[in-house]
Formats: sequence, structure tokens, C-alpha cells
Amino acid sequence: MTAQRFARSVSILGATGSIGASTAAVIAEARATGQADIVVEAVTGGSNVGALVDQAAALGARFAAIADPALAGDLKDACAARGLSIETGAGPAALIEAGARPAEWVMSAIVGAAALDPTLAAVRRGVAVALANKECLVCAGDLVLAEASKSGARLLPVDSEHNAIFQCLQGQTRVETLTLTASGGPFRTWSLDRMAAATPDQACAHPKWSMGRKISVDSATLMNKGLELIEAGRLFGLPEHRIDVVVHPQSIIHSLVTFEDGSVLAQLSEPDMRVPIAYALAWPDRLGLSTRRLDLAALAQLTFERPDMERFPALALAREAFRMGGAAPAVLNAANEVAVDAFLNRQISFLDVAGVVSEALERAGGLDLISKSPSSFDEVAAIDAWGRAEARRAADRRRAA
Ligand code: NAD
Ligand code: MG
Repeated sequence: MTAQRFARSVSILGATGSIGASTAAVIAEARATGQADIVVEAVTGGSNVGALVDQAAALGARFAAIADPALAGDLKDACAARGLSIETGAGPAALIEAGARPAEWVMSAIVGAAALDPTLAAVRRGVAVALANKECLVCAGDLVLAEASKSGARLLPVDSEHNAIFQCLQGQTRVETLTLTASGGPFRTWSLDRMAAATPDQACAHPKWSMGRKISVDSATLMNKGLELIEAGRLFGLPEHRIDVVVHPQSIIHSLVTFEDGSVLAQLSEPDMRVPIAYALAWPDRLGLSTRRLDLAALAQLTFERPDMERFPALALAREAFRMGGAAPAVLNAANEVAVDAFLNRQISFLDVAGVVSEALERAGGLDLISKSPSSFDEVAAIDAWGRAEARRAADRRRAA
């Protein structure tokens, strides 16, 4: 079957990050090979004006927005200095405008719950939203899904595990269980003593994937897999006990689906985020990509092991939050964002990250805050703020100790 050349207008929220760069690379290849006509409507960045202007220029974007409102003038000046006559904006409203502008396909790749408002602006327009960001589904999953079904927006999973499952589910029925694979991160074989002294750079040195610092720390604690467990539950509508996690250090099998007849389908590729991004961009078709091809004989072995819950308690915490339901996942996510930030700023130790999240969850349970799912985005914001404040206090106590 030959694929049709297709046309798309797209926006990239979080264009200056790791996923943003991979998305730009996929667009460049689709254009250069004549597979697609792609118009780039909007790009956003956090605080790196130079990187944002580079992306806007390379992609030919019509609008560029920077999250930090103090950088409005710098962004204008940098565009002028490059001879780029595009519209610019800064601050939260400009990021929402980037999601709201008329693109048919929007990549959601801002890190953390900060992605929520700009992503919602795209979801509410009823277009295709490629979801790399997972924190939004963890903290406000039911509400985001409800908005998507109201507007008719199509959520296309980009997280490699969820994209793998999405690929395996095309045209299928009778799903029994999902199995998420985890690389095990940089500390898979480390002792607890060694982990206790781990530095931010060691935690960010992922053996298989090159990613932003927040998700890299999440991969080192295995909280990333915990967040992904909740993300999978939301996206595919399955309860916690029907989603399994297995450590697979080679990161070749990106996830698996077991069906009611005992059949198992999996998606495999070299670990390269361009593969799931391209699948989301061209879906229900595929794009030709120049990514490295698998050489199974050269790999020789694919191995699997159970996650060690003692050294990686974050995974157990996320499973517990998923089982508890209600607002527990939102507290888990908020506390984790604060704890990771404190670790990256060398305020707490690596093992304290899970400790801080655990304390915040415990306190939320004691207050009965957790029992009810947030019924509005205002409630999500309030729970998120509560979880952050609790985690900051827990981190400060550990710093003082
Ligand atoms: P990154 O840190 O490299 O990039 C994050 C992007 O968000 C950048 O453009 C940054 O400028 C922007 N940003 C940061 N803080 C912001 C804020 N407060 N407001 C607005 N913009 C802000 O991160 P990444 O690795 O590209 O990951 C992005 C998202 O995709 C995360 O949710 C991550 O979990 C998910 N994801 C990433 C990968 C990967 O391979 N990198 C894989 C799967 C899922
Ligand atoms: Mg993933």
C-alpha cells in the first residue's frame, strides 16, 4: 500500500524541549521527502528565547509564544534581529493562544501540569492532539477526556509505551491486560546506598533515551512508569489491576497488549521518539522515516525482570494513588513535580524524592481530600496547589534535617 501525500497545519506546545526537537525533525523529514505539506501555526517555549526563535525560523511558524512574561520584549527583539516578521506573545495567555490558534494537529509537549491550559485550548477546538505530556492526564484525566469527547478532539498518545499500545489496538477487541515496559533507568543495578548519594547529573544520564531533566529523574525513580500506569488507565479505560509493568533494559519492545485468547501483540523499534511522533502525525496512515532499523540478531537478547519495589518505591506509590482514585493522582503528580525540582536543585537527596511524595499523599488521605475526583479545572488547580505546598514543606523538613 502506498501512502498518500497529506497536508496538515500543526502547532507545537513545548517546541524548545526534547520532544519539541524530535517533532521538528519529523516535520522536516516529512517536508524534505515530499510526504506531507505541513504549515506550522504556533510554537511555544518556556524561557529560552534563542531556542524558540531558532525553532520558529526553522519551521516557518506564524506565531511564537514564550511562557515567561518578562521575556516579551526579548522575544520581539530577537525576531527582529533575525529578520523574522512573525507574531509573538508572552505569558500564560499567549501560551493558551498558541493552543487556540487554528492548527489541525497540536503537539502537547510542555513538561508538567503547566501544559494543562494550553493543551485544553487545543482539545476544546475538537482537533487532533498528540499527547507527549502525561502529567495533564494524571492530574485531570477524567476532565480532559470529557472535554475531548464534548468537542470531538482526537487524543493521540505519543508517550512511547502508550503509542505502542495504541498501535497494537488498531482494529482489535477483547483486551485482557496491558504490559508497560520500563528501561529500569540509570540506577537499575545500583544498591540503595549508592542511590542515596546519586547526583542530578547521574539521575539524568539515561541509558537509552535522551530526554528533558524532569522526565529523566522520573525515569530514575520509576515514578515515570507510575505516571504512565495512570496515563494508560485513563487513555485505554482499564483499572489498575489490568496494567502490568515489566523492566526491559534494552527498550526495544515499547509495550504489549494481551488479548482474551492469550495472544500478545507488541510494538518494537529502536528507542527513538521520532517513531511515535510520526505515527501520531500521520495516523491513521504512516510516515516513512530514516530512523535506524532493528537488527534482532545483532541485539541477540531481549531480557525482562520484575521491578524492585524496595529500591523504587515511587512506582508503588503511583499504583496506590491510581487504586485510590479521586484526587490522589493529582496530589501525587504535584508533589512529585516539587520533589524532582528540589532534587535537581540539590535541596534533597535522590531517595527523598519518593519520601516527599509519600508524605504529601499520606497527609492528603488524612484530610479526606483524596476521596473525591476533582469536578472542575478550578478544583484541579486547588488540589495541585495544595499538593505543591505540602511537598515543599516536606522537602524543607528534609533539608533542615
Ligand atoms: P523538556 O524539558 O525537554 O521540554 C519541555 C518544554 O516545556 C520546553 O519547551 C520548555 O521550555 C517548556 N516548559 C517548561 N516549563 C514550562 C512552563 N512552566 N510553562 C510553559 N512551558 C514550559 O521535556 P521533554 O523531555 O521534551 O518532555 C516534555 C513532555 O513530554 C513531558 O511531559 C514528558 O513527560 C513527556 N515525554 C517526553 C519523552 C521524551 O523522550 N523526552 C517521552 C515521553 C513523554
Ligand atoms: Mg514513556
